[in-house]
Amino acid sequence: MLRVLNIRTAVPMKKPLEALVAKKLRCSRSDISRLIIVRRSIDARRKPRIYFVFTVDVEFVDESRVWKRCRDNKDVRQLAESSAPDIRPGTQPLTHRPIVIGTGPSGLAAALALAEHGYAPIVFERGCDVDTRTKDVEDFWRGGPFKASSNVQFGEGGAGTFSDGKLTTRVNHPLLRRILQTFVDAGAPEDILYAYNPHVGTDVLRRVVKNMRHTIEAQGGEVRFSSCVTAIHRDDSGRITSVTVNGCDEYPAELVVMGIGHSARDTYYMLHDQGITLEKKPFAVGVRIEHSQDVIDRAQYGCPAADLGLEPADYALVYHSPEGRSCYSFCMCPGRVVVGASSEEGLVVTSGRSLYRRDSGLGIS
Ligand SMILES: Cc1cc2nc3c(=O)[nH]c(=O)nc-3n(C[C@H](O)[C@H](O)[C@H](O)COP(=O)(O)OP(=O)(O)OC[C@H]3O[C@@H](n4cnc5c(N)ncnc54)[C@H](O)[C@@H]3O)c2cc1C
Repeated sequence: MLRVLNIRTAVPMKKPLEALVAKKLRCSRSDISRLIIVRRSIDARRKPRIYFVFTVDVEFVDESRVWKRCRDNKDVRQLAESSAPDIRPGTQPLTHRPIVIGTGPSGLAAALALAEHGYAPIVFERGCDVDTRTKDVEDFWRGGPFKASSNVQFGEGGAGTFSDGKLTTRVNHPLLRRILQTFVDAGAPEDILYAYNPHVGTDVLRRVVKNMRHTIEAQGGEVRFSSCVTAIHRDDSGRITSVTVNGCDEYPAELVVMGIGHSARDTYYMLHDQGITLEKKPFAVGVRIEHSQDVIDRAQYGCPAADLGLEPADYALVYHSPEGRSCYSFCMCPGRVVVGASSEEGLVVTSGRSLYRRDSGLGIS
């Protein structure tokens, strides 16, 4: 397989990608047997001309013939076999099923991997399933009661379910594509595999997290809602022996994966009280900036994004001061609206969320 970088074409695209790749590699379209888009970004530096810039992986009917012709092209290289690390199972048999706490991104990822490898995990989630949770959250936003276990932070899918569902990581890891593929397998649109700033949206995420749960269950796992882990028990050597759920039901366990997010203060106090070491993380302080999306589109593209058939524009700003402190735009999201995201009675938290179409008319950073 060859990786081809820097395929530039004006927006809107007039020719299919295969034709552009064939031209760049000086071969014919029929030489190409498979084309995978790895990355699509937008170059708007020469407005009003806007370009897509693609990176693609290409399989050929006869790769060696094509490679001979383009081996001197600095935008083309041969790809080694996939370097994504595989998950290695342990060597000691488990006496009990592994327990996962939380169904946010980390808990779901752990449960999916364990289920896929035949470990039949039990997943405890203090909140409700995503349909019940959606109703509770929408009631709350309309002025209804606050529910301590079913809100914007707690429940199926975790804190991200009522978010923008942006999948930007700022890291380049060989497992990233596999994680994005897990989202696609669960119903997310395929363009997240190659978009520069992949985005799913609250509406699509609801379906995605539910499908992930169905996959865990189909592979022998179990997901139990309204099940808050309230104690973790250990023997004298410090090994985990069981967990207590909702203050009364005890489940034997030797392997517990905690994906409890940053809002479960009661659980952090419980861990601290039980002598489990906790490490503090550095934190940043931010402000929220709200623009009209039209202003961002015109600044980036010179016209409304829709005129070009593009998605609403975004931006990223970074400033490094000479004293070593930095300021950066975190999580700018087109189409976002600000919502109440409290997870405790009496505490006010706000965050932003957007739908897949990002058409609220606002852009919030
Ligand atoms: C409103 C909002 C918008 C956001 N938008 C984005 C975004 O667009 N893109 C992005 O990348 N990040 C976003 N984030 C951050 C992102 O959601 C978090 O980084 C991510 O959810 C962390 O995943 P997690 O699995 O570690 O924890 P969480 O998603 O917080 O999940 C933890 C889960 O554990 C459950 N739980 C906690 N304690 C217990 C217990 N004792 N027993 C049982 N269950 C328990 C909780 O109910 C929850 O469902 C957003 C966060 C918020 C709050």
